[in-house]
Amino acid sequence: MMALAGYPLGLRCSFLDTSPEAPGAQVAPILVGPLEDAGLLEKLASQSDVLTFDWENIAGRALASLERLTPIRPPRAALEVSQDRLHEKALFKRLRIPVAAHAAVDAQRDLERAVLELGVPGILKTRRLGYDGKGQFVIDRRDKIQEAWSAIGAEGLIYEKFQVFSREVSIIGARSGAGELVAYPLSANTHAGGILRYGLAPFVRANLERTAKIYLKRVMNALDYIGVLAIEFFVVNGRLVANEMAPRVHNSGHWTIEGCVTSQFENHLRAICNMPLGSTRPLGHTAMINFLGEMPDRERLLEIEGLAFHDYGKAPRAGRKLGHCTVLRARAADRDRALKDALKLIKWS
Ligand code: AMP
Repeated sequence: MMALAGYPLGLRCSFLDTSPEAPGAQVAPILVGPLEDAGLLEKLASQSDVLTFDWENIAGRALASLERLTPIRPPRAALEVSQDRLHEKALFKRLRIPVAAHAAVDAQRDLERAVLELGVPGILKTRRLGYDGKGQFVIDRRDKIQEAWSAIGAEGLIYEKFQVFSREVSIIGARSGAGELVAYPLSANTHAGGILRYGLAPFVRANLERTAKIYLKRVMNALDYIGVLAIEFFVVNGRLVANEMAPRVHNSGHWTIEGCVTSQFENHLRAICNMPLGSTRPLGHTAMINFLGEMPDRERLLEIEGLAFHDYGKAPRAGRKLGHCTVLRARAADRDRALKDALKLIKWS
């Protein structure tokens, strides 16, 4: 999606991925091998004007030596802080952004103490390499501690208080090297099993959006950020509680391809290539629905007026994000009807 956004601007992407079947390989040249392979990274850096990433789990130290060859954007510091839930929460706290009460857990004894202090329900999570609900265990009774520890017990965990939220929302914005900052409207996101199912945008709540933009700006300015950044929040008693951030284009921003004047992908490229940022004005009311595990019946979905279909060309696997679709309507009620029609045709396996 990034490469596709680049072509009209005269930008050419090339990729490094672990598989020759990677979606990017369908539309741009690709190097294939381990993501932290020094030789491959150096090759990519030497043939590029700028390096970026759309997956945040590359070790920062693998990128460090490339900085003398080419700029890395977003900055490595943003990548590194987002790789560890504890560091991420510390950054949010430092910037006066509310987070769930939490405690670091490195041994079963720590977990027992954390559950005692913070209470139940709570979620035990891996601090690193967890995404889409992977590496998480809900502790809803004290006597579940042993079970949780047997399931994912190890060093480097975090126990956080379960948030009883009315909504999950995300804000996405872009910041240029010159400090110009644009933000998209909020998206309201529905997850199940820790994975995004669908999102509605704009989620029009003026006070939440104002606060989310202030928080986004604080994080971006603190990190001297360049590129697109997403922050996910829980809405708890009408207030935002930050869950996590992603220093990259984000699934909850895929609606911007059809739903905004400038997509998140284009704005990411504009930001990292020192171009003026594009308008984030929404063009109507959108719903974006993920295809998970298996592809839906394309022809039937395409009967829904104006539906935009995105097939990433990935091999099906349970829970894997294989594509998405977006519907855009002038009125929210019409969007909701189109969403309902589309959901009837989509099975999540
Ligand atoms: P994460 O990997 O942290 O984004 O978690 C994936 C999903 O699990 C979130 O989008 C929520 O739906 C749920 N979740 C994670 N942490 C919490 C929490 N502290 N309280 C309630 N739900 C949570």
